[in-house]
Amino acid sequence: MVTSLVQQKQIWNLVLDKIKNLLQQDIHLYQTFFEDTSLYSIEGNMLNIVVGSSFCKQFFQQEDQSGYQTMYRAVLEVMESDYQLNFLTKEEINSNTTDIKNKKEEKKVPFFANCILNPKYTFDNFVSGDCNKEAIQASLLIATNPGISYNPLFIYSKPGLGKTHLLHALGNYYKEKYPGKRVQYISTDNFVTEFVKYVRGNQETENLKDYFETIDLLLIDDIQTLQNKKATCDLFFTIFNQFVNSGRQIVLTSDRAPNDLQGVEERLVSRFNMGLSISMRTPDFDTMLKILEKKIISNQLSVRNFDPDGLAFLAQNFSKNVRDLEGALNRVIFYTITFKHLTRIDLETIKESVSPMLKQKKGANITEEDIIEEVASYYNMTDSQITSKVRTSQIALARRIAMYLCREMLNTPYLKIGKIFGGRDHSTVITAVVKVETELKTDTQLQNAISAIKKRLKK
Ligand code: ADP
Ligand code: MG
Repeated sequence: MVTSLVQQKQIWNLVLDKIKNLLQQDIHLYQTFFEDTSLYSIEGNMLNIVVGSSFCKQFFQQEDQSGYQTMYRAVLEVMESDYQLNFLTKEEINSNTTDIKNKKEEKKVPFFANCILNPKYTFDNFVSGDCNKEAIQASLLIATNPGISYNPLFIYSKPGLGKTHLLHALGNYYKEKYPGKRVQYISTDNFVTEFVKYVRGNQETENLKDYFETIDLLLIDDIQTLQNKKATCDLFFTIFNQFVNSGRQIVLTSDRAPNDLQGVEERLVSRFNMGLSISMRTPDFDTMLKILEKKIISNQLSVRNFDPDGLAFLAQNFSKNVRDLEGALNRVIFYTITFKHLTRIDLETIKESVSPMLKQKKGANITEEDIIEEVASYYNMTDSQITSKVRTSQIALARRIAMYLCREMLNTPYLKIGKIFGGRDHSTVITAVVKVETELKTDTQLQNAISAIKKRLKK
């Protein structure tokens, strides 16, 4: 990532704000160790951080200790990606900058180090219904006969219907069945970032290809992330062919059917169509109820303690998305058991505990596209002007406001905002958002514009 000094400073201010929040009760600790830190440079996935003294360096260096952990967490939240932290004193920076490079070599991480199978997701705790029966059958078939029947297996559905769960279940099952074989799961978040990182250098690309040669089963989650990533698509195409040609299995998930993957090359889409594509639908009421029961049991609670009408209420009101249903149940559990220490949970209590979520759901249909549309109409522009590269001051202002609102109202990750707004990088988005935040403090015209746009969005 290329960042200017100003951007680095802005990023670091956000990190320090996060740390302050995390350490709320311990301002003394903050002042002693954190306040005096700064960001020296970003090299690949390594942040070089300047610390106040060698004593501070000791405090930060232990990865299992709170200094490192707090810093790591704050960086993760601000940067929305997993960075290695390298701590340097001012003296070290002055005397030996090459040292930084050596340290970087030492800390080189293996490919996809963060992408691991989650043992929590199994076939046993995946509820079957008409909505997903075929996908479960195909996954089990593939896990038992990899590379033989259908390659690739392509599973698609709307969000929150169990694709990731099923992919992990398949991987876990396969690992148990073939202990000597290697499975690689690649998550949405890491997918493009790692590919893009390695695509930069030819040497690394070769290493990455070699790495995939060692994998027997490749599970790729949310392949739609490849849209409009030409270089990544090219490399992925090669890796995909390596797998299929050598009879090794690939399983892909996506939020849409292969033919709807606009911005992914035709040759790749046609490869996806070569195997078996299966869609999963939204579970019906009875399946939602069964899922609820499974989740209650997995929380070490008894279904008998829940009023059946209350469970039916949840299944009815969170009927579109299992993730939301699970979120609602977690809230009920928190509210009734942790908070009120109830053992018998009736309909009224369930309604009461999820009522904020139901209210939120009403206004929660706003999307990034709605924000762009509303800002564009407020400033009398077209949506595509907002996401374009044009830099006239009025368009740039509207664009900054739209980026700010995506962040503020939807908490959209910086990376995603950059993508939506014409492929801008993460640090450009941070700069834009910070600029609006700063100006908002004093600029009444801006305050009025933003509150008018928000009002229109919430209608
Ligand atoms: P997706 O990848 O399609 O967005 P996930 O796999 O992340 O969805 O599922 C969201 C949550 O819903 C997970 O916690 C998952 O365990 C749960 N879930 C989805 N479908 C089922 C199911 N049929 N049985 C049990 N849990 C499910
Ligand atoms: Mg998923």
